[in-house]
Amino acid sequence: MEQDEAKACIVCGERKQEGITVVNEFICHSCESEIVHTKVEDERYPFFVRRLRQIWVRFHA
Ligand SMILES: [Zn+2]
Repeated sequence: MEQDEAKACIVCGERKQEGITVVNEFICHSCESEIVHTKVEDERYPFFVRRLRQIWVRFHA
């Protein structure tokens, strides 16, 4: 079992090694900080929310 392999980020779809894993879903470091710095008024905010909702739903289930 290779545990150190790069995972596919669920936001940008790229394979990265640096990032966080939430409920088996991987978010790369750059996407994570981008989400954190994205304001609600930003046009990209709904995109991030849609991507993350599937995680939160499972996380709070
Ligand atoms: Zn990413």
